[in-house]
Amino acid sequence: MARDPRYDILFEPVKIGPVAARNRFYQVPHCNGMGYRYPMSLAAMRGVKAEGGWAVISTEETEIHHTTDIAPYLEGRIWDDQDLPALQKMTEAVHEHHSLAAIELCYNGHYAANNYSREVGLAPSHQAHAYGEPTSARALDKADLGNLRRWHRNAAIRSKRAGFDIVYVYAGHDLGIFQHFLSRRHNHRTDEYGGSLENRVRLLREVIEDTKEAIGDRCGIAVRLAVDELLGTDGIEHQGEGHDVIAMLAELPDLWDVNVSAWPNDSATARFCEEGFQEPYIKFVKSLTTKPVVGVGRYTSPDSMVRVIKSGIMDMIGAARPSIADPFLPKKIEEGRPDDIRECIGCNICVSGDYSMVPMRCTQNPTMGEEWRRGWHPETIAAKASQERVLIVGAGPAGLEAARALGQRGYEVSLSDANREPGGRVTLEARLPGLTTWGRVRDWRLGQIAKLPNVELYRSSTLTAEYVLAFGSGHVAVATGCHWRNDGVGRTHHAPVPGLAPFATLTPDDVLSGAAASKATRTGPVVIFDDDHYYMGGILAEMFAKMGRPTTLVTPAAEASVWTHKTIEHERIQTRLLELGVTIRAHRKLVCRTADALDIACVFTGRVETIDCRTLITVTSRLPEEALYQALMTRKADWQEAGIKSVTRIGDCAGPGTIAAAVFSGHRYARDLDAPFDPDVVPFKRERIEVTPS
Ligand code: ADP
Ligand code: SF4
Repeated sequence: MARDPRYDILFEPVKIGPVAARNRFYQVPHCNGMGYRYPMSLAAMRGVKAEGGWAVISTEETEIHHTTDIAPYLEGRIWDDQDLPALQKMTEAVHEHHSLAAIELCYNGHYAANNYSREVGLAPSHQAHAYGEPTSARALDKADLGNLRRWHRNAAIRSKRAGFDIVYVYAGHDLGIFQHFLSRRHNHRTDEYGGSLENRVRLLREVIEDTKEAIGDRCGIAVRLAVDELLGTDGIEHQGEGHDVIAMLAELPDLWDVNVSAWPNDSATARFCEEGFQEPYIKFVKSLTTKPVVGVGRYTSPDSMVRVIKSGIMDMIGAARPSIADPFLPKKIEEGRPDDIRECIGCNICVSGDYSMVPMRCTQNPTMGEEWRRGWHPETIAAKASQERVLIVGAGPAGLEAARALGQRGYEVSLSDANREPGGRVTLEARLPGLTTWGRVRDWRLGQIAKLPNVELYRSSTLTAEYVLAFGSGHVAVATGCHWRNDGVGRTHHAPVPGLAPFATLTPDDVLSGAAASKATRTGPVVIFDDDHYYMGGILAEMFAKMGRPTTLVTPAAEASVWTHKTIEHERIQTRLLELGVTIRAHRKLVCRTADALDIACVFTGRVETIDCRTLITVTSRLPEEALYQALMTRKADWQEAGIKSVTRIGDCAGPGTIAAAVFSGHRYARDLDAPFDPDVVPFKRERIEVTPS
């Protein structure tokens, strides 16, 4: 299909110093949980994005020296020449598809606790490390400053040798030391590097000049700058010093990559910020410089992209998450099929991979992180290996993805769901406040399935074992999901909590399906017991508080929705709940329920207290909806006659988890169908550290 001429502007080349990007799609630096530890996985992931049409592909933040070691996090390293072969894998993969490779050099200041190298950290002023052992970074003295500039320069020269086309000077996310120097919060120096803004900008200016002088002949020099920290007058503001820094250095770099800081603000989830949310903060930049400007804002719509270019907000569309959810986003626009774009839902499961120090995963893109180790490609998949038909029971994320991918392989697929509206849990959860975008998990798959004549969707069809046997498909996937428990069993309570059963204890399923309305009292205090710790407990508390019900969130954890530290939402969630008047009772477990009250106990002392409770909602753990699967297993003797070769449970039915896990499970089923399976064999390649036998 031909490209829509309205989008031609997105495919214009952009000059970045001595290099030129072939179009305006720019994958900005992003962490990924691979870093120096999984270089082959990393190179393959970046290479796929270059293949998908992103003109610039950047690394994650890359430590320039062993005194800025951010262990245990897995970021890039360019400490010395030993790191170059790994980085070269990435530049080669990017160049193979005619894109530019960019490296974000980073010195983390007090953010690097040097847990691995055991060096003393360096920062503008004496400052406690932000995490890790309770150690402190030392204020750089003159000799340290000279060293820092040399380390950065050496890292830039190494970057050029590794094949990078663009080299970053990093002053963003409250992580890079050059931002710390700019910041009145972090920089308390009294020498020529502290005090006035002119002084606080000095080091950034010097390092940009050093870098240009060292490698500017062949590499574009980019600066990533946080123009607003969303801290009001306590931080850099786009109408104040953020503006002034750009004005002072306007023409010095070859490209400005501008955003808001810190990372939870820059990568805000869709629950809290919409597409394009950074525009008000960054739109001034282009008026101060002739150099290209890149910004981000979770753009997935080509119309929005054209708008921000034409309205002069930015020259290149920066993307981390949209490029993760769909590495082929630019190609799809170029080929005139923007409807095929797999839009990011803004959930930050990708970030959770990085924060868990494992290769990142993505809710929308099950191939993310699997490009090298499983050889999965986001757009291509092996043709079917047999003529068997496949019946999939359940059209939630797992069933939909399995049907889509099997359909792409060429199998004849029947997908059935008990409900009229497919989507399973995402259809329900997308109704929660701020989670509308989660419906994209369903919508993209339904859109793709509609284009596949070999996939049939049956709505309002509850399948029994009898029906499945009569249907006679070669393979059956049971994707029937799971349900929340109502007995309190979860991470903390390993046996049912006494006293819950006689009273109407609700679960998220009751609330989401509307059953809560008939089961619960409409007035009086609501207590949510959250032992799941992801978004559900917190979001239900938000809902009930907004209804005007006195709401208490009880959790054995230290704070509400504590796992959302991994999706960098916890601050916003906590703030929202507190502002709505939700009472948060941390470090508490359940003891017993009575008609109007609930006994809870401190998880440490066991001290019991009684709180008012008319409606109790437990958010603890989930059980697979496995009745159909078990019924089919008991009828194994009938399979042969029915023509059934395999029955497999997938998604939440196989193991309740995140939506990302369900999509992955469905995709994996589709990839592996008709392939030999040996449960004793590790099903992916590993990046092992070579040990020479002694
Ligand atoms: P997952 O996250 O694993 O995809 P979901 O809970 O989102 O699981 O989706 C499961 C879907 O399966 C739901 O839409 C539900 O209506 C459907 N389902 C459950 N049991 C049956 C059944 N026996 N026949 C058809 N559909 C079913
Ligand atoms: Fe977007 Fe979620 Fe995928 Fe991250 S995990 S890229 S936020 S869909």
